[in-house]
Amino acid sequence: MISSIKDCTLLNNGLKMPWLGFGVYQINDGPEVERAIRYALEVGYRSIDTATVYGNERGVGKAIRESDILREDIFLTTKVWNDDQRGKRTWAAFEESLKRLETEYVDLYLIHWPVKGCYQETWRVMEKIYQGGRAKAIGVSNFLVHHLEDILRDSQIVPSVNQVEFHPFLVQPELLIFCQNRKIQVEAWSPLMQGKIVTEQVVQKLAENYHKTPAQIVLRWNLQHEVVTIPKSTHSNRIAENTQIFDFELSQADMNVLDALDEGKRVGPDPDSFDF
Ligand code: NAD
Repeated sequence: MISSIKDCTLLNNGLKMPWLGFGVYQINDGPEVERAIRYALEVGYRSIDTATVYGNERGVGKAIRESDILREDIFLTTKVWNDDQRGKRTWAAFEESLKRLETEYVDLYLIHWPVKGCYQETWRVMEKIYQGGRAKAIGVSNFLVHHLEDILRDSQIVPSVNQVEFHPFLVQPELLIFCQNRKIQVEAWSPLMQGKIVTEQVVQKLAENYHKTPAQIVLRWNLQHEVVTIPKSTHSNRIAENTQIFDFELSQADMNVLDALDEGKRVGPDPDSFDF
């Protein structure tokens, strides 16, 4: 059982990645993101998920440097944006991210979206970045089975992570099994459906039964599916609340109740038809 905020999954290259991380999408660069990360680190998060396109890598880097936590004790993720893939400038984009983050390396570098006609070439550059040692692991995001098959067909390195939209309304069991069989760690983005899941009656009922909050129920469901999760909040009470998920366990029956909510419903774009 995953029983501590310090617990990690072992990625396919031997790197440890915390099961719980802190997402910073839609948090403004500068004081807002710095304050949020400062608080997240204080209450025990050791993994931060940003991206070039979030525009807050500077603040993320500053908050990490100004904390009293050693860089090597923090797992830092960023991602290459679509325009950089299209412009064949993944290598340059990576260098720019490191500069903004003011760090020597990232723990995980991801292809943010499977840009048609580009992602296979991007992956070849990602492999070189990994071999250079400044990304401790490389992976992908928003990849469906057919995108992963394209990568696996002619690459040397199997992605360590696939970060995808994942919550009780979008379970994608075939994708989970495909990734598990190939030791690709699945990571959930929008695990709380950008906040919408907390008003769902089934989740509220479970929350009452377990004396937990709806958000905690859903985040625990992520962990019991062995999916890394990275909820976002700017409110200190919620940042802390989202860490209180290691002292209880959902029964298999209640896991099934949440699984049964699956409607294949997305809050974000479809990886086969996004237009950005
Ligand atoms: P989320 O599901 O984490 O929801 C965040 C929202 O839920 C908050 O803004 C708040 O309104 C609400 N919330 C948070 N904690 C709560 C609590 N305890 N109780 C009630 N409401 C609560 O959504 P997200 O930010 O879209 O996803 C999380 C992270 O995933 C992002 O910050 C980002 O790092 C990553 N992400 C990645 C991609 C991608 O394409 N790879 C896309 C979207 C998000």
